[in-house]
Amino acid sequence: MSDYIVRATAANTQIRAFAASTTNLVETARRNHFTSPVATAALGRLLTAGVMMGSMMKNPTDVLTLQVQCGGPIGGLTVTADSRGQVKGYVNNPDVMLPPKNGKLDVGGALGPGFLNVIKDMGLKEPYSGQTMLQTGEIAEDLTYYFATSEQVPSSVGLGVLMEKDNTVRCAGGFIVQVMPFVEDDVLDRLEANIQKIQSVTAMLDNGHTPEEMLNQVLEGLNVEITDTIPAEFYCNCSKERIEKAIISIGKKDIQSMIDDGEPIEVKCHFCNTAYQFGVDELNVLLKKAAR
Ligand SMILES: [Zn+2]
Repeated sequence: MSDYIVRATAANTQIRAFAASTTNLVETARRNHFTSPVATAALGRLLTAGVMMGSMMKNPTDVLTLQVQCGGPIGGLTVTADSRGQVKGYVNNPDVMLPPKNGKLDVGGALGPGFLNVIKDMGLKEPYSGQTMLQTGEIAEDLTYYFATSEQVPSSVGLGVLMEKDNTVRCAGGFIVQVMPFVEDDVLDRLEANIQKIQSVTAMLDNGHTPEEMLNQVLEGLNVEITDTIPAEFYCNCSKERIEKAIISIGKKDIQSMIDDGEPIEVKCHFCNTAYQFGVDELNVLLKKAAR
């Protein structure tokens, strides 16, 4: 089944909610980047959060970036999403290996201490950006903390990635539930009680729950209304032309030294790991286009 995001409201718009199934897009990321299981889990959680947060933005040209700068062996993660369900991302060290912690992939250990940066480029002069300290490095808790402190929106975030025995992605998904400032106490009490008793996201996914079913559990008794459904996918907009522009921007001196080496070069896109080759003759063309 294809990945998708559902957007919903509950309790007569006192709550807004998002849920997503992301199994295919996380598996695409794993295949593109050859990520280890713990790196797949970390990247998969951030991609899942990113694709949902992207769908919170209004305009088709808005771009959301989630960036983790951290001291742990994964070295950092970057995810970029738009408002139409397209997301891409990478980790700095895709082959990080760690022993499991309490029988689970040690995502918190892979990230270690650090910061979460949230950057929203909405076509304004300055992009919005917020930075918070990582709380656990498990990503869902870090985003909950970000929403509470940086955006002042009380939220509950659940993210999960489950692996098959062969380390491919078995299932991935998550939810974000946010309460509006005018929320009534009894609605809040009910939501908190629901969150106490629900299964973990990974358990829900493992039991085959769809995004709609996840929201029905989290928002039980709160009159969930699904407002729309958006397909989600791992998508990178890189192209040979874009890489050419990047090479041109490094300047004549560096292009000349590549030409002097006399070998074709290969440039890989950070986000999707696609390799682009440039022969010496092509580099000569780019050299002429370089301004300095
Ligand atoms: Zn790419």
